[in-house]
Amino acid sequence: MSRNKREIALSRAKELKSRIADYLEARKTIPKGLESTDAIRKRRENIMAKLNATEEQWNDWHWQLKNRIKDVETLKQYIHLSLREVRAIAKVSKVYRWAISPYYLSLIDPENEFDPIKLMAVPSVLELEDKAHDLDPMGEEYTNPAGNITRRYPDRLIMNVTNECAMYCRHCQRRRNIGEKDSASPKDLIQASLDYIRENPEIRDVLITGGDPFTLGDESLEWIISELRKIEHVEIIRLGSRTLVTMPQRVTDSLCEMLKKYHPIYVNTHVNHPMEVTEEAKAACEKLALAGIPIGNQTVLLNGINNDKYVMRCLNQELLKIRVRPYYLFHAKKVRGTAHFNTSIDDGIEIMEYLRGYTSGLAIPYYIVNAPLGMGKTPILPEYIVSRGKDYFMLRTWEGKMLKYENTPSVKLSKLLSDRYKLEEKH
Ligand SMILES: *Cc1c(COP(=O)(O)O)cnc(C)c1O
Ligand code: SF4
Repeated sequence: MSRNKREIALSRAKELKSRIADYLEARKTIPKGLESTDAIRKRRENIMAKLNATEEQWNDWHWQLKNRIKDVETLKQYIHLSLREVRAIAKVSKVYRWAISPYYLSLIDPENEFDPIKLMAVPSVLELEDKAHDLDPMGEEYTNPAGNITRRYPDRLIMNVTNECAMYCRHCQRRRNIGEKDSASPKDLIQASLDYIRENPEIRDVLITGGDPFTLGDESLEWIISELRKIEHVEIIRLGSRTLVTMPQRVTDSLCEMLKKYHPIYVNTHVNHPMEVTEEAKAACEKLALAGIPIGNQTVLLNGINNDKYVMRCLNQELLKIRVRPYYLFHAKKVRGTAHFNTSIDDGIEIMEYLRGYTSGLAIPYYIVNAPLGMGKTPILPEYIVSRGKDYFMLRTWEGKMLKYENTPSVKLSKLLSDRYKLEEKH
């Protein structure tokens, strides 16, 4: 290598280092589950002592479900709540239900009023502020052709199998489905959904969701999946579950053994903050991965939790460490009771701007705005095409460098060849 080229490379490397210095500084201050193992363990011990739980119980998802914290008197034994907050939680409880698994509770820093895990799990008085927003902004009720199905696309659909979750996210985008009582969809509704799928051969991809389908027992879940597998045109089955981070104990060996009989199976989870990526979540994801199940993540862009370019970069990198591939970043919809979590679209664009180029392509989800009335997912990107002319594009690189890129029309291979042969004949 000529000395000159090496010098250019070294100076470019220096420039690249300068592009990451701010992130490396910011990253230090972001709470991360994988770096908080001791603090989490201490809080877990405290919760276990108060609930008189054994290690075995803690690791049993049925115990976790049964012992969810759902009243403010209990909650305030574990995290610091001001009098105002206590009153607010009692008030919200009358309108919206809430419940926190003991595991998820152990992730909350009890002294931090604005702890991101707390904001996602503990009711806020702001939920009552917001009367204007619709409970069903997506018009899901207009896209339900049968049973418990939501169909908005030509070749795939959603099957809603329960309204129970391990933890009721305060930002839930499907609050309408969550209802007030835990209940699996009645079998005849599921049967009607299965019939619809059977009768519509263009459906090749079925998403099982809820609520959270992993709150069903293995047997109920297996019944649904095995019925789907009997339908020849169903190529892939996807399951959406947030238990991987809200109640990772759910991912048992027997669940994995069951799921892997019905491949190709995909799981999409829902992680919003690096603090949710813990050793326990890692163990759950590893089990699924070892059963051959690819795991994707669908984040919701949330004010005060992850609408920050550094937090989001960190989250997506933490996810790759536990073998989860970032898939979607959803712009928060206008759902009643969640307006305080809404961000501007500009926040989302800025986040995307500081992912591409700055970190692994694998760590970059698609940023999606859900068009109202079920009109579908609409991707949003920062502008990389600045303008175009007749035979060129003006492009902007990830660092903001401008370039003119030639754009010539595609020519069919057969035409290229025949032109070449004609030329040969002439000679
Ligand atoms: C999001 C969604 C899907 C799945 O969309 P993908 O882009 O394929 O992940 C399917 N049906 C409905 C109704 C949806 O909202
Ligand atoms: S796990 Fe999903 S469906 Fe359940 S409350 Fe949270 S966001 Fe809503």
